[in-house]
Amino acid sequence: MTDIRDTVRDEFLRRFGHRPSGLWSAPGRVNLIGEHTDYNDGYAFPFAIDRRTVLALRQRDDRVLRVASSFAPDAVEIAIDELSPERLNGWSAYPLGVAWALGQLGASLSSVPGADVYIDSEVPIGAGLSSSAAIESAVAVALDEVWRLDLDRRTLAEVGQLAENRAVGAPTGIMDQSASLLGRTDAGVFLDCRSLAAEVIPLGFDAAGLQTLIVDTTVSHSHATGGYAARRASCEAGARALGVPALRDVHLGDLERARAVLDDETFRRVRHVVTENQRVLDTVRTLREHGPAAIGGLLDASHVSMRDDFEISSPELDLAVETARENGAIGARMTGGGFGGAVIALVPRDLVPAVRAAIEAAFSAAGFAVPEQFTVRAAQGATRER
Ligand code: ADP
Ligand code: MG
Repeated sequence: MTDIRDTVRDEFLRRFGHRPSGLWSAPGRVNLIGEHTDYNDGYAFPFAIDRRTVLALRQRDDRVLRVASSFAPDAVEIAIDELSPERLNGWSAYPLGVAWALGQLGASLSSVPGADVYIDSEVPIGAGLSSSAAIESAVAVALDEVWRLDLDRRTLAEVGQLAENRAVGAPTGIMDQSASLLGRTDAGVFLDCRSLAAEVIPLGFDAAGLQTLIVDTTVSHSHATGGYAARRASCEAGARALGVPALRDVHLGDLERARAVLDDETFRRVRHVVTENQRVLDTVRTLREHGPAAIGGLLDASHVSMRDDFEISSPELDLAVETARENGAIGARMTGGGFGGAVIALVPRDLVPAVRAAIEAAFSAAGFAVPEQFTVRAAQGATRER
């Protein structure tokens, strides 16, 4: 199998006519647990995966940025002095948005050199594995190094988020970039989305004979963007009605009062966030005290909460979760923003083929599209490769 790093090096030469001076990479991520908690100042527990976005870069002396990607036939070019969210669009808003955001979050770009950048990726697009954070994080670490900015990884995560919020225009939280930048082999990133404190927690899946199976339903429902915005609005309304800055400040013991104050739908949205925050804390504690074989029930409960209270699941996601559980997964849940996307299942290694076959058969019987299934491992965050 060809190494993507060799492909990126060779393609850089073909597109730009000279060799790159360095290669960097950043991984996609999957969220183990903690969904729709990040924008409620809560907790999340994602890990970086062994699928990466790789870029090659060479500096230019004319303060021009040229970015090219395996997805696009032509490079996009802009002078550093002209970077602004209004001038960026399409896929290049991700890498060029990062360059702009570096200048917004403390770095001076007044004398940095330009760069040629070529990007390729093993992270599937739109599968809930955050190809967007992977491209942002790869560009952020590369430019941080060649521009000698020396920003810490937490700031680089904020840079990626700012690029996505302002240059791309997607109102996402900080979780994806944090996982991509802070991930470690065989470990998850326990994230406090209020303080932005992040702690690397060993997962021990391999040693326990467990594999993480991703089932990408390949279905994204058309109301995904509107649904996400509506859930955010419900959470904000719930926090306002309860007189707290964010749902992070509502605890399990407050739910009784919340039920009395809120309409039924808002109450169920709030209950998802409150119980999900608790499940993240319980997952971290359970991993430490009892190991990974003991966290399955928390994953299952998270799915039920998203299905029934937050109402962001889909028939495909529910079928994948049920079939995985019936065929030996110790826990399974939809992962990502919902309304389609992927499921993560924690499966004993020797049962993975049977679970995959059962899911494929169940999807076929239900008349659903053939899902993409693959296992992932918790991997190292963004890094220089060469
Ligand atoms: P995901 O769930 O994969 O993060 P998003 O819609 O958030 O989905 O981000 C996907 C978008 O990010 C793509 O449509 C493209 O614009 C951009 N992108 C991601 N990876 C690359 C890449 N390697 N080259 C160019 N653009 C990319
Ligand atoms: Mg994304």
